[in-house]
Amino acid sequence: MSRKPIIAANWKMHKGPAEAVEFIEEFDNLIGDSSPVDIVLAPAFVSLPAAKQALVNSDLVQLASQNCHFESHGAFTGEISIGMLQEIGVDYVIIGHSERRSIFGEDDGLINQKAQALHAASVKPIVCIGETLDERDNDQVESVLRRQLTDGLKGLDAANMLETVIAYEPVWAIGTGRTASPEQAQDAHRFTREVIGELFGEDVAARIRIQYGGSVKPGNTAELMSQPDVDGALVGGASLDPVSFSEICKNAG
Ligand code: PEP
Repeated sequence: MSRKPIIAANWKMHKGPAEAVEFIEEFDNLIGDSSPVDIVLAPAFVSLPAAKQALVNSDLVQLASQNCHFESHGAFTGEISIGMLQEIGVDYVIIGHSERRSIFGEDDGLINQKAQALHAASVKPIVCIGETLDERDNDQVESVLRRQLTDGLKGLDAANMLETVIAYEPVWAIGTGRTASPEQAQDAHRFTREVIGELFGEDVAARIRIQYGGSVKPGNTAELMSQPDVDGALVGGASLDPVSFSEICKNAG
């Protein structure tokens, strides 16, 4: 089963509207007219409209938000609804990022509410999962991944899952410069695909795309991507520079 790789840039709390546009203009020149991978940019909320405008003539790059609220409107100060993101033209929303889990206390139940709301609105979630170093050292990788998948994806059906991307991001590899070895990534991806097969059937398991995230750089992309169950990357630090992100996209192809 061939799955088109998907490479996403998570800019976190970097790049306001002007810097986002500057990046896109430079990236556009570097990436050319075609790409063998799907490319997604996830700017901060305030930079989404400017990014969308800068991408108006681009068929290659899609837009993601880094978060959303699951309610359609209401008294949720500081939050952004999925409808508002759709109005801007967002294609994907990242949910369950480990920084949202650990800094903002988001749990699998909340992530599940977001996943369900996104599918109800036909916006594609990128659902992040991954273990901490402590959990890995205590042999809990598989139990953590199984729990995050089972609880985070509850209530979704096979059709929803074909529109979902999973990002396996070991927490100990995010922003640390410490990448999972290709074998560690493959083991976790293979297990993730196996659990998805149990939950949603073998067809979904064979077709769903599973990204790796955690200190991905131009130099380690090709080796990670050569693993049979690694279908792309979610990139933080190395996505902030257009040259480095364009190299990652090229090396992933
Ligand atoms: C991330 O935040 O999703 C991430 C993978 O960050 P980095 O690439 O900087 O490790």
